[in-house]
Order: sequence, then C-alpha cells, then structure tokens
Amino acid sequence: MVGLGTIVGISFPFFTYLILDLPADKIFSPLFFSLCMATGIAVGLCNYYLFNIVVDLYLRRIQSKLATFHQNLENLFWKNDNDLNPLKHFLKVDSADTIGEITEEYNIFMATFYKLIKTERKTANFLERLQKKVKMGAMAETIVEVFKEYFGADGGCLYSMENGRLRQVNNDSLDINNDAIDHNFCHDLLNKGEIVVFEDFDNLQVRFNIGIGSLKPNAIAYLPLTYQSQPVGLCILCTNKEFKADFFSLESRNLINQAAPFIYNGLLMKKLEVLAAVDELTGLFNRRYGMKRLNEEYERAKRHKLPLAVAMLDIDHFKQLNDTYGHQVGDEVLKDFSGIIGEEIRVSEFALRYGGEEFMVVIPGASAENCHLVIERLRRKAENLQINFPQHQLSFTFSAGIAVYPEESITNQTQLIKAADTALYQAKNLGRNQIVIHSSTNLPATLKPQSVTG
Ligand code: GH3
Ligand code: MG
Ligand code: MG
Repeated sequence: MVGLGTIVGISFPFFTYLILDLPADKIFSPLFFSLCMATGIAVGLCNYYLFNIVVDLYLRRIQSKLATFHQNLENLFWKNDNDLNPLKHFLKVDSADTIGEITEEYNIFMATFYKLIKTERKTANFLERLQKKVKMGAMAETIVEVFKEYFGADGGCLYSMENGRLRQVNNDSLDINNDAIDHNFCHDLLNKGEIVVFEDFDNLQVRFNIGIGSLKPNAIAYLPLTYQSQPVGLCILCTNKEFKADFFSLESRNLINQAAPFIYNGLLMKKLEVLAAVDELTGLFNRRYGMKRLNEEYERAKRHKLPLAVAMLDIDHFKQLNDTYGHQVGDEVLKDFSGIIGEEIRVSEFALRYGGEEFMVVIPGASAENCHLVIERLRRKAENLQINFPQHQLSFTFSAGIAVYPEESITNQTQLIKAADTALYQAKNLGRNQIVIHSSTNLPATLKPQSVTG
C-alpha cells in the first residue's frame, strides 16, 4: 500500500505535465517531486492504517467467531443443546455498506446452520427413542409425544393402516369423532401423501380433554405417514393456539418421514406375532401362546381372587377316524371342531390347540358349573354335527375334563392343567362322549363324575 502511494507520488509530476500542460521547470523541480512522493507515501500510510483498523479488525472478528464455531463443531457431539446458540457467533452489523451486508449474510448462515444441527439432533434423538421400542403401542406413543413437542401441539393421536382400515393406536388428550377421521377423506390424503392443516373446521367434532371438560382446538393438522409409497399411518395434531413449526418445511417433513418405517415395522411385528400365536390348521391359539395367555389369566385370578376354569377336550377315537378316512379327512374334522369351539366361546374366553386332537378352553371367572354348561353345549353341537364329504358323511364326539382354580390341590398353572387332564382321562374311562369335573372340586350332586354323561 505504501509502495503504491510512492509509485503514484513519482508518476504524479509526469501526469500533471502531460494532462494539465504545466511548465516543466516547475514540475520536474526536486521540491515538487519530493512533495508528490511524500504525499503519495502519506496517502499509502493512511490507507494502510485505515485498512488495518477497519477491514482487518472486521476480518479478525470474523476469524475469531469462526474459530469458536469450528471449536464448537468439533465438540458438538458431547455438548448439550444449550451450547447450540447461534447468538454466540453473531457479529454486530454496524454499517449499511458491503461489510454490513457480508456481516448480515454471515449471521444468517450461522442461524441456519445451527437450526439444521438442532433439527438433526432432534431427529437423531427421536430415532434413538423409537429404536428402543418394538411394540406398536409404545412406538405410537413416542411418535405422538415427539410430534406434539416439535409442532407445539396440545393433543394428538395416531392411526395405523391395518388391512385397509385406519385403527387408532395412540391417543393423547383428543376426543376425536368419526367425522374427523372420515375414511374417504383420510384415505385420499394418505394416497396423495399430503399434509393438511385446517384452521376453520366447524364441521369436525374434535375436542381436547382438559380434565374438567373439553375445548375446541384452534387448528388441526393431518400428517400422513407413508413408507415405500405405501400408506402406513396417520397422525392428527391439534393446538389451542398456533402450531410453532411449519409442517411443510424440509426439517418438518424429514421428521415426519422418520416415523413411517417404524409404524411399518410395528405392523409387521403384529402380523408376525399373530402368526406366531396361531395354529395354522385350526386358527386357534397354538400351545406356546395359549400357555402364555393361561399363565396371565392364572396370575390375574390369583390376584383378584376370582375363579378360573380350564377344560381339556379330546376327540374320541380320532386315530380310527384317521385310519378309516385318511389324514385329510381327519384335518377337516379338526378344522370343523375348532370352528364350533370358536362359535361357542366369548371374547373374554379363549381356546387353544394343546396338541394333535386335544384342545383347551379357558374361561376366566367361571365356576365348574358354568364351565360345564359351555362345554356341554359344545359337546351336543359336536355330536350333532354332520360333516359332508363327496363319498360319505361323518360325525364325531369328544370327551372333556374340567378343573377350576381355586381348589385345594391346585397351587399353580401346571397343576390346574394336570387336574383337567385327570378328569379327561376319567371321562374316557367312563365311556367317552362325556364331561368330568375334577374330583376335588366342590360340586353339586348332579355334576359328580358318574352322573355326567352325554
Ligand atoms: P381316544 O378316544 O382315546 O382319544 O383315542 P384317539 O384315537 O383319539 O387317541 P390317540 O391318541 O390314540 O390318537 C390320536 C391321533 O390323532 C393320532 C394322530 O395320528 C392323530 N393326529 C394328531 N395330530 C393330527 C393332525 O394334525 N391331523 C390329523 N389328521 N391327525 C392327527
Ligand atoms: Mg382322542
Ligand atoms: Mg389325544
């Protein structure tokens, strides 16, 4: 800068001589030359100091902020969210010139960068929480909780798409009616994958539960969840005021999209669970799952001091039936028998295929008499059932043993099954096609073993 000033100072006399046509003896005098050079050097020095004071100072401020930013970036993964404050890196805008504009751009860049990091952190945290959940219910709860917080909603619920229908899997404080989940509207929305936000919706019956009553929300948002172009669920959020995040921004969409694969996995898990719990041939619970359910019922009965009835059912002379008509016919009989068992039991009761041609019916809360009534109805139905085959028609019977908790000799689930099994053995010995209630169960005279016949 000083050198440039000196060059300008030296060239100035020639410049004035050529352009301004001033007398040469005056211009090329040592005094004028020295003055021009001194002025050039002085201007150069001024520029140098001006640059150092203004521009260099400004650049140094940027350099220092960038250094702390860089440091923070390196420490990012073990610092908490409070350290992610862009204000720490902002520069004061104190002029309206190019330097001011650069400063403003720098501040915007910092703010955007920190916003992205925060969103990234939220998403990572969300994923980490979701990855710990396997069951649909727990996953749905986390999704609603995170979405509520992110978008500033006061209530929310989540539906999963199961067999073409929307099923509510979580609800946090929403009183939501069928009209708000109008299937045509929601299916359309899901197929298009479009987010919809309503602020005026007098026709929708959606309200918040606030303990002492309910409130009409100010805005409602429908967030479709799609995975591999397939609709998997729908999240509905409501607010009393205004949502605090824009649903259509890249970060919001990214967060919403993260939830979909988990819902998909939850649905898959449910399907697998059903497959793992059900006996393929009969459609009843399999033994492994049935025993798990029996254990739950046994513990519940013990806790609440309620009776629990178990009936063990076994088809009579099934081997003979198999040998005469073939295994396939035997399978048909097993299916038909399971079908009538399914028809006879209520939602609170359940049946399982214990093995081969042996089935168990579990009736929580039933006394021996009540259980006998159910199994007797079933026995008559089986006895009267005519199964049609192209070449022939056949019927079958079964024998059953009933045991009921509580009973003196029964202190665990295995003993309960054993007692029912003993009663079944007795029924077989008494001639089959009959029901026996385990001997130590207190019974009215009409239900004593020898009097129970079909
Ligand atoms: P009981 O009246 O004493 O119960 O005689 P049963 O012939 O019914 O009893 P057993 O235990 O001797 O025979 C049971 C038969 O059930 C033997 C087995 O081949 C048949 N079985 C077991 N599982 C299946 C199945 O899935 N399908 C068919 N078709 N038969 C089966
Ligand atoms: Mg049998
Ligand atoms: Mg058997």
